[in-house]
Amino acid sequence: MISRDRLTNCFIEMARIDSLSKKERDMADHLLKKLREMGFDPYEDDTGSKIGGNAGNVICRVPGIPEKPVLLLMAHMDTVAPGIGKKPVVDGDTIRSDGTTVLGGDDAAGIAVILETIRSLKEDGTPHGDLYLVFTVAEEGGLFGARNLDISRIPADYAFIMDDEGPIATAAVKAPFYNRFKVLFKGRAAHAGLEPEKGLNAIILASKALAGLPHMGRIDAESTCNIGIINGGIARNIVSETCTVEGEVRSIHEDRLERYTREILDHIRDVTEKLGGCVETEVERMYPGYCLEESSPIVCLLKEAARKAGLPLNLRATGGGSDTNVINGYGIPAVDISVGMDRIHSTEERIRISDMEKACCFLEAIITTALTYNR
Ligand SMILES: [Zn+2]
Repeated sequence: MISRDRLTNCFIEMARIDSLSKKERDMADHLLKKLREMGFDPYEDDTGSKIGGNAGNVICRVPGIPEKPVLLLMAHMDTVAPGIGKKPVVDGDTIRSDGTTVLGGDDAAGIAVILETIRSLKEDGTPHGDLYLVFTVAEEGGLFGARNLDISRIPADYAFIMDDEGPIATAAVKAPFYNRFKVLFKGRAAHAGLEPEKGLNAIILASKALAGLPHMGRIDAESTCNIGIINGGIARNIVSETCTVEGEVRSIHEDRLERYTREILDHIRDVTEKLGGCVETEVERMYPGYCLEESSPIVCLLKEAARKAGLPLNLRATGGGSDTNVINGYGIPAVDISVGMDRIHSTEERIRISDMEKACCFLEAIITTALTYNR
């Protein structure tokens, strides 16, 4: 049985732990200890040293009936700022922060839901297939934990990432591909008062190039673009020699992502060169998108599990990126499931205990439904 008290305590214990991205040491130690107490044999991978963090991903196999579909259950250990000294406050059915930090329900709620579901299965002797629990580091700001995961050690057929918001039984089945880009505008420095005519102002080059961008904001129903950072100049009396601009493009469709990115950068280059300057550009695919069909086995599994749990399934597209993108990119069908987190990335963050309980029931239904599937 799902225990509301055990779930609440498990969540609060974790919410009190400082666990900013790349500083998840205390949280990783806490989870390694909890998993050992539950009778499992968890390990930590070497992602920490690869990304300059102080902890790696925590991974744990929960052995089940062989030959049945293997499920990967995932959540991330890191939280956003302000996240030091979090003090969760229980107010009836709601847990919120004290207003000075985030609550960290993103994603302690995901971890708490997974752990409570496993405890409940174990306690009740409910049959299940092999389960792999993966608690990642540094999801926020770059999905670093998931991107550095050695997926060859995790032979999963389907993955469920417990890291979404919205009513329980909401699942993100579509998410965009993501390109980040950086442009260095190069002009010529000169004394701004004595001989400005010898200079070529890189800030002005950037301004003119950006003013006429062919795409900005919402490009189409499934694609967006943003300029998020601009930096230029070193002193008021110097015609600025360089200016850097950083932006992003997202689209559910990879071909459109590539076309929009190219059109933006071509435009910037054309305008700048016509004005006598030049640019250096850099593009990086941060993560792939995914789009799971209504008829795909994982979506059918979700439908059946929701019916079993008595919850209305809400399949949605998201404009954000999560570990789910990376796992789909590894070739394992993965969906992002709501655990009820609310007003995340703000000091008003809160979560309902009853929603986390429902998320446990949904996850339990997913796990037992998967038993009726073939590998
Ligand atoms: Zn999250």
